[in-house]
Amino acid sequence: MVTLYDTTLRDGTQREGMSLSVDDKLRIARRLDDLGVHYIEGGFPGSNPKDLEFFERARDLELENATITAFGTTCRKGGAAETDGGLRALLDTGCEALCIFGKAWDVHVTETLHATLEENLRMVRDSVAFLVAEGRTVFFDAEHFFDGYAANPGYATSVCRTAAEAGASAIVLCDTNGGTLPQTVARVVREFSAALPGVELGIHAHNDAACAVANSLVAVDAGCTHVQGTANGYGERAGNADLLSIIPALVLKMGDDCITSDQLRLLTEVSHFVAETANVTPNPHQPYVGTSAFAHKGGVHASAAARLSAAYEHIDPAAVGNLARVVVSELAGRASLTMKALELGIDLTGDQEAATRVLDGIKQLEHQGYMFEAADATLEVMLKKELGTHQPFFRLESFRCLMEKREDGRVMTEATVKVHVGDERFIATAEGNGPVNALDGALRLAIGRFYPALDAIELTDFKVRVLDETKGTGAVTRVLIESSDGEKTWGTVGVSENIIEASWEALVDSVEFGLAHPRGEER
Ligand SMILES: [Zn+2]
Repeated sequence: MVTLYDTTLRDGTQREGMSLSVDDKLRIARRLDDLGVHYIEGGFPGSNPKDLEFFERARDLELENATITAFGTTCRKGGAAETDGGLRALLDTGCEALCIFGKAWDVHVTETLHATLEENLRMVRDSVAFLVAEGRTVFFDAEHFFDGYAANPGYATSVCRTAAEAGASAIVLCDTNGGTLPQTVARVVREFSAALPGVELGIHAHNDAACAVANSLVAVDAGCTHVQGTANGYGERAGNADLLSIIPALVLKMGDDCITSDQLRLLTEVSHFVAETANVTPNPHQPYVGTSAFAHKGGVHASAAARLSAAYEHIDPAAVGNLARVVVSELAGRASLTMKALELGIDLTGDQEAATRVLDGIKQLEHQGYMFEAADATLEVMLKKELGTHQPFFRLESFRCLMEKREDGRVMTEATVKVHVGDERFIATAEGNGPVNALDGALRLAIGRFYPALDAIELTDFKVRVLDETKGTGAVTRVLIESSDGEKTWGTVGVSENIIEASWEALVDSVEFGLAHPRGEER
């Protein structure tokens, strides 16, 4: 069984622009524990006080599966392990398991560390032995192992052998620069495991050559039983090995039982949770867990996929908690529309005539510039209108939008909407930093007292695209709005030659959908 070692909270946070608070880290640790990861590296206590707070508070987490580990380096050149501040900080975290890195590439020892090769071996030996004598499980990260092994295999091997003999539980072979290719990793791990029989080996890969996941999998195939990676592959430069791609490959394709099938079904949710917590937009095309990972576009293909999913899907999406999804597009046939409608809770199977009518409508709208791939909510509103089941929450009489640029450089927008709810007519005016913001404000003022659920609905993203493939009538603007009520997110779309009109369309669909599906609703 492979041991899974997550380093999202340490190596993952090296990603440019990513920062996690202590609370974020604790929340992520909990989810990784639910997923069944065996070790969660919490941080580098010697390097920053935030990590110290994490370790203090992590003691109360009461995890079911995972052991929290702390990360650090070997003792200083010329200094004793017993009195080393960094090693002391590691012990003070109270973690049962610790991971320290040491140099395995001779050039780094002599040129970066300015130490002799023998002194580096001493530092590795004394540091590991000291932490083991203190009763801790110690993993040794052999930094720059693959480059070091290529340059001087004898020395790289000595460093690892030294750590193993001093009591390290696993020797982790790091592709620190991330440029090694899978065939090299496979060959080196094979050779190396023969040179160090009985030693548990691990792999820590970076994605600079787009091979981090492949390198981790071939390393396992060649004998590594400990894999380090991060959720969603977050990490410095091109990222770390994506543990959320490695895990399903291990379980579903390589027959490893590192986590249970129940735990594996949490994969997609964990991926999105970590992305949202780290404030990184989830990548829809991420293997296994992306919203497009099992999306089928194209009529023939989509209808075949509906009948014969194994022919078009490399795994059952449900195994990783994902869903097969049909992308509605000009190419889509009736079968895919029927599936898509079912996903939205609308059964078209009994009414093929309606399905054909809706499909024609979609094709017409796509021709005008609409796109529904990120606008399920508009599609739902449209389907209901076509089927005569749409119940509008309000009716627009008119809206007006004014923009004023002032001498001091400020730009103010003011919007007025006139709407009817039932028999009542409401007029409301609001200011905003732009037309959409102002219209949104005015609409909320006008109908908010009827629909308190509006309070929870927020516009979270707004994208504008100018489509110029028109026939001399001026460019058409497409507006995509993403909304959220804190529980779910939905997308809507509007298209017009006038950007404010396009925005209004998307805004109205957003509100209609949000009110039709209040929080807590079973979907
Ligand atoms: Zn790393």
